[in-house]
Amino acid sequence: MQEYNIIGSGPAGAAAAYVLSKNGYKVKVYEANKRLAIKPCGLGVPSVKDLPIKISKQNIIQTINGVTMYVDDTMVLDKENFLEGYILDKENFLESLIIESGSELIKNSGFNSLKHNVRENGNIKELKSAIIAGGFPFYKGEKIDAVQTIVKSKNLEGSKKLIIFFDTDIVGYYWIFPLGDEIEVGVGGYRNVEELIKLLNKFIDNNEYLKESRMISSIKGAQIAVGGVDFEFDYNFPKIGEAAGFVLPLTGEGIRPSLISGIELANSIINGYDIKDRLSKLKITNSIKIQRKILERVKSMDRSKRKELLSSMPAEVHAEVALGGMSKFKIIKALASRPDLALKLMNYMGD
Ligand SMILES: Cc1cc2nc3c(=O)[nH]c(=O)nc-3n(C[C@H](O)[C@H](O)[C@H](O)COP(=O)(O)OP(=O)(O)OC[C@H]3O[C@@H](n4cnc5c(N)ncnc54)[C@H](O)[C@@H]3O)c2cc1C
Repeated sequence: MQEYNIIGSGPAGAAAAYVLSKNGYKVKVYEANKRLAIKPCGLGVPSVKDLPIKISKQNIIQTINGVTMYVDDTMVLDKENFLEGYILDKENFLESLIIESGSELIKNSGFNSLKHNVRENGNIKELKSAIIAGGFPFYKGEKIDAVQTIVKSKNLEGSKKLIIFFDTDIVGYYWIFPLGDEIEVGVGGYRNVEELIKLLNKFIDNNEYLKESRMISSIKGAQIAVGGVDFEFDYNFPKIGEAAGFVLPLTGEGIRPSLISGIELANSIINGYDIKDRLSKLKITNSIKIQRKILERVKSMDRSKRKELLSSMPAEVHAEVALGGMSKFKIIKALASRPDLALKLMNYMGD
């Protein structure tokens, strides 16, 4: 039986391990940390419509049924009861995918990408082949920083909405996500970590939703790959998930894209398909490419133009972007009464 080594136990690695193991392959997952999912993450999966893997109830911290979105101070979208999304118990979800499928999980075993080795049972072991699912450190394209913290807030008790504030200054956004009895608040964009921490503190002090809230954890940060997909293999080792740029560049959503890429890689191995070809033909890959093109255009505009464009988009277009669908048909339909905007956006979206 062929054996597969997977580097990284995030959504991409865990999903690939799950499908390969379920299909009778022997899989070892090497994870650098002692625990899974310790990287800061908003845990939001805004839509599970096209997720080819089931998230069981015990791995859901909270269900999400709506989105409120602002461009600077203008509300551009406020919809409830229109989607099925989750705030994930990422650690348990990932661990259960790996363990329950029969894969072997080796924690505290970092892959050395120069020497191609890992530590297993106290010994150094060279890996002749591996699937790289190690997340943003392995990604070579553009990355931005993001920081987040947890607060307690009376105002938002029982909220099931994702609240997003796009900031045209930093070309990024603040998020307020419900997390059971607590709230996640974060910001990501084109600023360094120090500046983002200052911005986040200011946001928590001044935001209406967060009145009388108090921070209950320190601010932690990580990077997000926003440069689009990159299928070039390093040393002939295939890459999946954020390592290969499976993140929606406008929203920073990476869990669902990474899960999808891991599943597709495993299916390609099982069926003998060409991995790069299959990954490049995924619907999510197309959405990532479109969002990347729009991000590039929006980034190159001056702030007032950026603000004008984003605040004039109808709510349906914002919803499509927030959920990462990016269906041209839906966007054209939503912009039927604004052919000028439709033309602009189509130009940005390219072929
Ligand atoms: C602050 C912040 C908030 C975010 N919020 C959201 C959100 O709400 N929703 C969403 O969808 N996405 C969000 N993202 C993005 C999301 O976290 C990632 O895109 C997603 O987890 C990527 O999955 P992955 O499996 O590719 O990589 P990761 O989840 O990064 O997993 C990679 C794993 O590999 C391990 N690893 C790394 N190097 C090595 C090595 N050398 N050897 C062995 N193991 C290694 C890591 O420890 C890690 O466990 C957020 C990101 C940040 C930074």
